[in-house]
Amino acid sequence: MDNGTKACHKPQCQLCPHIYSGNTISGPSSVTYCIKSNYTCSSTNVIYAIICQQCPSALYIGQRGHFLRKSINGHKFDIRNHDTQKPVSNHFSLPGHSLKDLKVTFWNKIITNPKYKEKQLR
Ligand SMILES: [Zn+2]
Ligand SMILES: [Zn+2]
Repeated sequence: MDNGTKACHKPQCQLCPHIYSGNTISGPSSVTYCIKSNYTCSSTNVIYAIICQQCPSALYIGQRGHFLRKSINGHKFDIRNHDTQKPVSNHFSLPGHSLKDLKVTFWNKIITNPKYKEKQLR
């Protein structure tokens, strides 16, 4: 199986249309990041990257969290409301941009469990 994020194809998944399935992402200053694992819409404890389909170097790194669908829905809400105070919605409010240009990929699964760490410290 190739590395990258795959759509889960579950009915009514709001992330599937935005999944970027490539195994590399290009950030600003031509930096390329490799995705070294497989993820799906429902992966948890991963960092997400937002990519603009129209601007190959546009990259926004989101915080990891358990509620990725919620995070992405939050961005989508901001974009629909043209909230220019936030970097993601500001970008997708640029001329010629729409919500359809928003792609998301997951990477760098976090293996550190805070509880586990606590145990180790004792
Ligand atoms: Zn999905
Ligand atoms: Zn763009």
